[in-house]
Amino acid sequence: MTDLRKGFSAPVEAFLADTHGHFIDGEFLADNVTTSIKNPCDESILCNVSEGSSQTVDIAIRAARRAFSTGEWSRWTPAKRQNVLWRLADLVERDRDILAEIEALNAGKAISGCKAVDIDGAIDLLRYMAGWATKIEGSTKSVSIPGEHFAYTLKEPIGVVGAVVPWNWPFNMAIWKLAAPLAVGCTVVLKPAQLTPLSILYFARLCQEVGLPPGVINIVLGRGSDVGEALVSHAGVDKISFTGSTPIGINVGLSASRNINPVTLELGGKSPMLVFEDAEIDAVVEATQQSVFFNTGQVCSAGSRLYVHRAVHSKMVSAIVERATAMKVGDVLSDKTEMGPAISKSQRDSVNDYIELGISEGADLVCGGVNHQSPGYWLTPTILDNCNNEMRVVQEEIFGPVLVVIPFDSEEHGIALANDNPFGLAASVFTRDISRATRVTRCLEAGTVWINTHDLIDANTPFGGVKQSGFGKDLGPEQLSHFLNTKSVWCQL
Ligand code: NAP
Ligand code: MG
Repeated sequence: MTDLRKGFSAPVEAFLADTHGHFIDGEFLADNVTTSIKNPCDESILCNVSEGSSQTVDIAIRAARRAFSTGEWSRWTPAKRQNVLWRLADLVERDRDILAEIEALNAGKAISGCKAVDIDGAIDLLRYMAGWATKIEGSTKSVSIPGEHFAYTLKEPIGVVGAVVPWNWPFNMAIWKLAAPLAVGCTVVLKPAQLTPLSILYFARLCQEVGLPPGVINIVLGRGSDVGEALVSHAGVDKISFTGSTPIGINVGLSASRNINPVTLELGGKSPMLVFEDAEIDAVVEATQQSVFFNTGQVCSAGSRLYVHRAVHSKMVSAIVERATAMKVGDVLSDKTEMGPAISKSQRDSVNDYIELGISEGADLVCGGVNHQSPGYWLTPTILDNCNNEMRVVQEEIFGPVLVVIPFDSEEHGIALANDNPFGLAASVFTRDISRATRVTRCLEAGTVWINTHDLIDANTPFGGVKQSGFGKDLGPEQLSHFLNTKSVWCQL
């Protein structure tokens, strides 16, 4: 075995020593074309993986179709599917440290958050959806047409699901896309982001270990413009489940509609945090920390627009700046680290460009600023104060650790500013006044609203946006409905 690199564990170094292929029909399938997977902390090569094409997608969809049609899995008893999903969760839990280390290195995530959020969240979700496998039910119908009839509905798995995920939560998002369809008996072809395939490839080994029937989960590697496009426009899939940016989501929606396929789109965001004059200052500081700086701000629901009542504006901003300045940015394998680098050079450059744009638009830089430190794609927690809704930095998703602050004067004014944005993924409101919190929550155009916190997510709470942030929900019982067909059955008595 190769020498261990600094901080790498032996199992992870052994995993990285392999060249990884696609996972199709229960086997790893190597391609002649490979691509290098980089560590965003120092730009070193972690390992090489296959790069597929539309032919790879064809092979994977055929495997998923075969698995679905044979009934190996789709017609298993729900309890049997539940047990396999539960055992998969146990294996993820057993290998939690390995998975977290792979994820931290591949995606540049601080490992403590990676364990607690990315990996533990995935374990919870696998168990939650395992529990749903045995609780799918149709209904009996009273009907009014003349004669004696008995009518009822059956809930049946929709078939083969094509799923595409981004690089910001590679493992967690993949499990979001897999757990619900698997619970109800679907089979899946999943495309991870080309930059971050490693954790889900490790998971594929766990699928083999647990004895998941071949073809139930298939992972195709490669570029979005190539493999992703082939998957979402393929006539052989029955449902598209996509998480990514709004521009790509629009194309995915068009491709799915050409095949009359239902589609779930979990897209971008620019979520507002609305802070009133009676807000608890520590709650606001903690929430900004956990939403816009956590995961280097590469969070779809990041509370990246902070609207603060003018009466407490300077006090709030000082407290947030103090905490953001003290953030520990660095070695992602250290438990003390709070923030790692951006995922890639282009992502880092784009964030730096937005910071420069904000300053040129008239914002006051009160914390951080552009960062060109290399090797690695490092960024600094950054706060742009005294912004307004006319600025592009306030309207557009930056997808980095950049908070824009906008003062407001009244409840009505704050709500109007918060809603004046194309996105509608999430929002939060900070106040000790329960009436105000309830009132404002009803007015905010968002798929999720948090009160006195931001970015809490649970397997049982449906997540997904409105407006340009997409439609359809992941998580919760709502997600299951996207993978079930309702069949009405009539019987003449
Ligand atoms: P992206 O560029 O849209 O890519 C997302 C995925 O789509 C990747 O796997 C990508 O592949 C693939 N893709 C690219 N072009 C495609 C095409 N023509 N057809 C099919 N698939 C294609 O998004 P990103 O930059 O990776 O991720 C950041 C975005 O995701 C942000 O906007 C963020 O807000 C959003 N997001 C939303 C949620 C949510 O739940 N609402 C959660 C997380 C992230 P390659 O990358 O391999 O080319
Ligand atoms: Mg992209």
